[in-house]
Amino acid sequence: MGLFFDDIDAAHRFSLELDRHQNTLTCTGCSCSGQFVSHGFVYKKHSQGRQRTVGKRILCSSRCGRSGCGRTLRLYLNTELPRLQYTATHLLIFLTTLIAGFSIQRAYSQATSAPTTRNAYRWINKLNRKLMDYRNRLRKPKEAAAMFGRSRSRRLHILLITLERLSSILEQPLCQHYQQRYQSAFI
Ligand SMILES: [Zn+2]
Repeated sequence: MGLFFDDIDAAHRFSLELDRHQNTLTCTGCSCSGQFVSHGFVYKKHSQGRQRTVGKRILCSSRCGRSGCGRTLRLYLNTELPRLQYTATHLLIFLTTLIAGFSIQRAYSQATSAPTTRNAYRWINKLNRKLMDYRNRLRKPKEAAAMFGRSRSRRLHILLITLERLSSILEQPLCQHYQQRYQSAFI
């Protein structure tokens, strides 16, 4: 069952109807199903200090007759990147700029307007760790298997080709739609 939702109302509604989803929602901590209860919203801080609601938390509860493990699971808006400050829109600008041939630093600064670009390589590393996931979404994932290389620039090239292909077969915007469709974090 999904971790990504179109809007906060949908995530909230889902969290209030958890018993209805008990056959499909299993805790990753204790493998139990049917123990989740609604547990508050998830917020992210803007750079200006304000915060926005980005999701809902549900708890694998051990109270009131439930036998869960206490782990929380987050239901996110599909426009958000879990555990990252920036949104799917920022990431998409980063990817589009990279695919257009600009440098990693230029793409990161274009996407985030951040004063430094030191996190740009963290994004690239995270994307590289998801490369096999992206490739598995392609219609012919084995097609370019022989292209895997060892050098950094070669890996980046393959990553960008893969993302370009993925973008051509999925609805837009890519990162947001990917999260909604596959119920999996893009990065
Ligand atoms: Zn649990």
